[in-house]
Amino acid sequence: MAIATVNPATGETIKEFTPDDSAVVEQKLAEAQAAFQALKKTTFAQRAEWMRAAADLLDADAEELGRIITIEMGKPIAQSVAEVHKSAKGARYYAENAARFLADEPLDDPSLVNASQAYARYQPLGVILAVMPWNYPLWQVLRFAAPALMAGNTGVLKHASNVPQSALYLDTLFERAGFPTGAFHTLLIGSGAVDAVIRDPRIKAVTLTGSEPAGRSVASIAAREIKKSVLELGGSDPFIVLPSADLEKAATTGVAARTINNGQSCIAGKRFIVHQDVYDEFAGLFAAKIKALTVGDPLDASVQVGPIATAGGLNDLQELVDDAVAKGAQVLAGGHALDRPGYFFEPTILAGLTDDMRLVMEEAFGPVASLYPAKDDDDAIRIANQTTFGLSSSVWTSDPAEEAYFVENLDAGAVFVNGMTVSYPELPFGGIKASGFGRELAAAGIKEFVNLKTVWRG
Ligand code: NAP
Repeated sequence: MAIATVNPATGETIKEFTPDDSAVVEQKLAEAQAAFQALKKTTFAQRAEWMRAAADLLDADAEELGRIITIEMGKPIAQSVAEVHKSAKGARYYAENAARFLADEPLDDPSLVNASQAYARYQPLGVILAVMPWNYPLWQVLRFAAPALMAGNTGVLKHASNVPQSALYLDTLFERAGFPTGAFHTLLIGSGAVDAVIRDPRIKAVTLTGSEPAGRSVASIAAREIKKSVLELGGSDPFIVLPSADLEKAATTGVAARTINNGQSCIAGKRFIVHQDVYDEFAGLFAAKIKALTVGDPLDASVQVGPIATAGGLNDLQELVDDAVAKGAQVLAGGHALDRPGYFFEPTILAGLTDDMRLVMEEAFGPVASLYPAKDDDDAIRIANQTTFGLSSSVWTSDPAEEAYFVENLDAGAVFVNGMTVSYPELPFGGIKASGFGRELAAAGIKEFVNLKTVWRG
C-alpha cells in the first residue's frame, strides 16, 4: 500500500511520501536506543514535565491537526479536534500518575519468604515498536506513547500507510516537548518492512492495534523472537437492549455507538440484540434516528457521518451487506454506497440475519448495524457471545439482577451498563478471544512494557 494522503471524501490523492530506506530506519533505531540510555536515567518528574509540554502542544495544534486527521481518514471535523484534545488529556493523565503506578510495591509480609524486605520494582524495557491503525490516528498512538515514555521506554511508530501526515506530526512532537532526540520516532515504512524491525535486537517488545491478520503476523514473529506483544484487534460488540431499558435513550445512544467515527471504531456497538418484547419498538426508534443522520463532507461542521477511510474499506463493507441481502436479510435503512465522489456508505440497519451470513460473525467496519431479536436473557447472551471477538459490550437495563447476570456472563474485555463503550485514560482497555490480549490505559497499560523486578533481602 502506497504511503499517501488520499482524501476519502473526494478520492483525490493529496500527497505521496517516499518510504524510509534501510539507512534511515537504522538511524532512527540507533537514536531510539541511545535515547533509551538517557531517558531511563531521568526522573518521573522530569518526564512528566516533558509529557505535559507535549499535551500543551497537542492542545495548541488541535485545530490544524484536526483538519489533517479529517483530510486523511474522513471523520467529522469536530470529532477530529476532540480526538486531539483527548490525546492531550491522556498524556496529562500519565504525567500525573506514572510515578504512583510504577512505585515500588512491598510484599505484605516479607517473613513468609524469609526476608527482611521484599518488593517489586518496575523498570523500563527499552525501545518498543508500535504498529498503529488510521481510525484514531492521534489517540491510538498517544495511549501507547504516553505510558511508554513515562515508564522510561522509548518508542518507534509504524503508522497506517494512509495517515502519513498525522504520523509525521507525531515524529517530532515529543522532541519539541523536550524529550531527548529519538525518544519517539515515526518509521515511514510499509507493513512488509515490520518483520525486520521486530527482529532487530534493539526492539524489546511490540504493540499492535489493528486487524486480526496483522495481529497474528506481528505476534507470531514477536513470539519467535521471545519478545512481548500486546494486541488490540477488532471487535463486533453487542449492544443489548432489555425490556426495562429506557428505549429512547438506548436508541439515541445506539445510533451514536454505531456511527461515531463514521462507524469505524473497534469498540462500536455493531450487533444490536433486542429482547423480543421491545424489539419492534426499538427497531422503529433506531431506524428513524439512523435515517435522520446527515452524511457528507466531514469538513462541514453540520455533517454527522463522513466517508469510509479507503476505497478498499468501502468495498469490504458493501460486500458484507450484499452477502446478507442476497441471503435474505431485510434492509431497515440504507444498504448502499452513495453515488458521489469519495467513499461514502449510507448508515444502514439489517435485520432477519441468519447464521450463513458473513455479517453474523465478521466485523462491519463502517456504519452498518445488524439487529437480532432475543427470546430471553440466556438467548441474548448466546447471540452476544457467538462471535470470535470479545472486545467490549453494552447492556441496557434498569433491573439490578439482570445487570448482574450480563456483567457476569458477557465474554468481553468490558461491559458498559446503560451507556456506550468509550475509552477513558482512567479505564483499562482491551479484549479477549480474537480481539487480542493485554491492556492499554490506566495502571494496567503502563505495566505492559516494564520489567517487574523482584527484590528480596535477607
Ligand atoms: P490493519 O490493516 O491491520 O492495519 C493496522 C496497522 O497494521 C497498520 O499500520 C498496517 O500498516 C499494519 N499492518 C497491516 N498488516 C500488517 C502485517 N501483516 N504486518 C505488520 N503490520 C501490518 O487494520 P485496519 O483494517 O486498517 O484497521 C482497522 C482494524 O483495527 C479493525 O479491525 C479495528 O477493529 C481494529 N482496531 C482495534 C482497536 C482496539 O483497540 N482493539 C482500535 C482501533 C482499531 P499498513 O497501513 O501499511 O497496511
